[in-house]
Amino acid sequence: MSHVFPRHTKANPPIAVAGQGCYIFDSTGKKYFDGSGGAAVSCLGHGDPDVTEAIKGQIDKIAFAHTGFFTSEPAEELADMLTRHAPEGLDRVYFVSGGSEAMEAALKLARQYYLEKGDTKRHRVIARRQSYHGNTLGALATGGNLWRREPFAPMMIQTSHIAPCYEYRGREDGETAFEYGQRVANELEAEIQRLGPENVMAFVAEPVVGATAGAVPPVEGYFKRIREICTAHGVLLILDEVMCGMGRTGSLFACEQDGVTADILCIAKGLGAGYQPIGAMLCSHDIYEAIENGSGFFQHGHTYIGHPTACAAALAVLKKLTGEIGQRVTPMGEKLDASLRDTFGQHEYVGDIRGCGLFRGIEIVEDRSTKQPFDPKRGINKALKRAAFEAGLACYPMGGTIDGVQGDHILLAPPFIMTGQQIDEITDKLSTAFRAVF
Ligand code: PLP
Repeated sequence: MSHVFPRHTKANPPIAVAGQGCYIFDSTGKKYFDGSGGAAVSCLGHGDPDVTEAIKGQIDKIAFAHTGFFTSEPAEELADMLTRHAPEGLDRVYFVSGGSEAMEAALKLARQYYLEKGDTKRHRVIARRQSYHGNTLGALATGGNLWRREPFAPMMIQTSHIAPCYEYRGREDGETAFEYGQRVANELEAEIQRLGPENVMAFVAEPVVGATAGAVPPVEGYFKRIREICTAHGVLLILDEVMCGMGRTGSLFACEQDGVTADILCIAKGLGAGYQPIGAMLCSHDIYEAIENGSGFFQHGHTYIGHPTACAAALAVLKKLTGEIGQRVTPMGEKLDASLRDTFGQHEYVGDIRGCGLFRGIEIVEDRSTKQPFDPKRGINKALKRAAFEAGLACYPMGGTIDGVQGDHILLAPPFIMTGQQIDEITDKLSTAFRAVF
């Protein structure tokens, strides 16, 4: 009997024993194409020798030094490099161990920022109904995923949720994409007015929505309007790039493509590329200065923040993402998109194929003309995951109720090192899975 407390107590997952390039091997020798990098983590694939060497080199020097006493060379170098590449104005980096921790830190930093400025009222957070920001209590309260949130609702901070920017389902007949984006962005203005601007601390959003909807990019102009509204009301804009950041969408930070910057920006997953657990929160000079000129102490911190070995791994990853490998994402993403459209574009049960870079989603519907989803009891997304896994493809399935609509989605987030031939491998294996399920 296993003594591991697994994610799913009734599942019996295979044992992963090796990884090489885009593949994972289990203990029976079966080979899986890592089509979603777990959950958009393994951007460099498995067994990258440079990252492995960087980790070994750091452990040989010093594996860990507590940030209450020391800083470290890799943390300093990684923060320098991240801020050099980050959107304008984000010039401080707070390292954590993952995405939820980054979001939790962001929420607390936002609150402390206002307190340091003598504004004790601002505490309300607004987010979107189609979102996932992590599983710790603050991050969970912020996310819009009802089934994850509901059991813990009595324990949560107050948040409110506005409409997502979800063109496939939200854009009305006769409305342009731009008009649609402005309309849903203006829900933020209305919600701020409803709550009273003096009470609102932050708006939180994923630039490209990942886990709840399968790679949903915003329409043009949406985030510009969001930024305008936040600035006008002194509401901090927290962008969650935990899944869509670190080159996944074709630029190092997804928000670069919207021409906006955040006050606080969170990254994780691809930052350590799975080689080490690490996340980070980048913040603006203004926010850092408020702390520095105020109490001088951010009332937060975990034992493993700024872990030197994790930072050394992330530094090696970042050097690759800002080089030739990062430049592969846009062209390879276009090829993947074309291949998905060729193979599934006319499929009776495929409602939408979307995304950017190597972050692609397929939405499954029972009726393409009405966009009617399948009955959730059929568990279509889980069935597709199982069938794809059987065929040797690991991809990320999602289902969830968004604005009362149950959706089935598949997320693909393959390693950036993937070849053209491997794109065919993904679509072939996914086709096998579709044939098995439908
Ligand atoms: N934010 C987003 C957008 C995510 O997709 C996730 C994880 O899937 C998180 C936050 C939480 O990150 P972690 O699982 O590393 O805590």
